[in-house]
Amino acid sequence: MKLSFSAEDELFRKEVSSWLKTHLVGEFEQLKFRGGPGDEHMFPEERKKWEQTLAKGGWTCVGWPKEAGGRGCSIEQQVIFFEEYARAGAPGRVGHIGEGLAGPTIIAFGSEEQKKKYLPGIVAGTELWCQGYSEPGAGSDLANVKTKARFDEAKGKWIINGQKVWTSLAHESDYCFVIARTDPESTAHRGLGFFLVSMHQPGVDVRPIEQLTGTSEFNEVFFDDAECDATDIVGEPGDGWKVAMGLLGFERGVSTLGQQMLFQNELNEIIAIAKENGAANDPMIRQRIAKAHEGLKIMRYNSMRTLSGSNDGSLQKEALMYKLYWSNWHRDLGELAMDVLGAEAEIIPNAPYELSRLQSMYLFVRSDTIYGGTNEIQRNIIAERGLGMPKEPKVAIKAN
Ligand SMILES: Cc1cc2nc3c(=O)[nH]c(=O)nc-3n(C[C@H](O)[C@H](O)[C@H](O)COP(=O)(O)OP(=O)(O)OC[C@H]3O[C@@H](n4cnc5c(N)ncnc54)[C@H](O)[C@@H]3O)c2cc1C
Repeated sequence: MKLSFSAEDELFRKEVSSWLKTHLVGEFEQLKFRGGPGDEHMFPEERKKWEQTLAKGGWTCVGWPKEAGGRGCSIEQQVIFFEEYARAGAPGRVGHIGEGLAGPTIIAFGSEEQKKKYLPGIVAGTELWCQGYSEPGAGSDLANVKTKARFDEAKGKWIINGQKVWTSLAHESDYCFVIARTDPESTAHRGLGFFLVSMHQPGVDVRPIEQLTGTSEFNEVFFDDAECDATDIVGEPGDGWKVAMGLLGFERGVSTLGQQMLFQNELNEIIAIAKENGAANDPMIRQRIAKAHEGLKIMRYNSMRTLSGSNDGSLQKEALMYKLYWSNWHRDLGELAMDVLGAEAEIIPNAPYELSRLQSMYLFVRSDTIYGGTNEIQRNIIAERGLGMPKEPKVAIKAN
């Protein structure tokens, strides 16, 4: 197992941290430690400007190949970048869906025309994306999507009708990648298409959903005769499932590996409060803090173990357990934060919903075990793809 980075990687670390030190100042100072999970509604305009500043420094899309406009960093360097980014307290990235999901999918499966049209805006931090997968009847069972795409010969365009739900940051996005049924007679994973759809058109209606935290990072999105250029389907009609699953590989892969430093920041804040308010004198609290610290170390060693695999840039089977592990750890950290705060955790100074960062974190982390694949689905993935166990039986449910 590789437990450290090379000397060259450590030089890269210095380069990242020194760039952040010199640029995360002035108007961006207020963004420090903001815009993360549960706080994504904060400073959207300022964070868009920060995204473009990152781009000017060449620090967006660091893992993309150079020919696609990225920095061509190795997986080790990407982890270092994310670690230093979080250590510096740099803000949550508004462009993360474009950079981590849409872009890599277009690079892997898109046409040359799509690459030319969409990648530069993602790299420059000027065009934001959202993910149109889930629907009221299709979450874990994604193959159940009902949204339809029909090709209109006269217009020479795809016409999209249907409803998506839980669409994070749709209200800030310029484009959405949408899974829709190109064959109206098809069922399950057959007959789907993967579409790149502009959010700035009359056929797209974005309605915010208010969350437990009182904020609205996600939305319902209604497509009512929304149009999509003939050239903006990724792959062929019917290839949608293959492309959608390829994208989920990116979602469950490297994009999650650098987040441990963010967690470390949260744990540090909780430890500081525990020392200050005396909660650290409680042996049970001390025990839980130690366990949280251990959990973070385990995450780090597992990341390093994953990195020690083949040098072809792919992640190993060990990476499959990462989502399940971090999301449960993070949910427990939320509970620890509330217990450390004690009675103060129950007080909201300006009700409703002016929550402190830790209160907001406590509520938001409940969703960590849901998005990007629920706990149960993660266990299925580990069992079937990691351990080679028999596939879950498919049960057909008949309506009476
Ligand atoms: C904060 C947040 C942001 C999100 N952002 C987006 C986004 O930007 N775009 C997008 O498309 N979606 C997004 N989602 C949706 C997310 O992907 C779904 O919520 C998730 O896939 C679960 O689907 P569901 O909510 O329909 O629950 P369901 O699939 O209905 O699941 C309900 C329960 O049944 C369990 N279950 C389901 N199937 C199985 C099975 N086969 N075996 C065992 N148990 C099972 C689940 O684990 C869960 O406990 C977001 C969700 C959240 C919470």
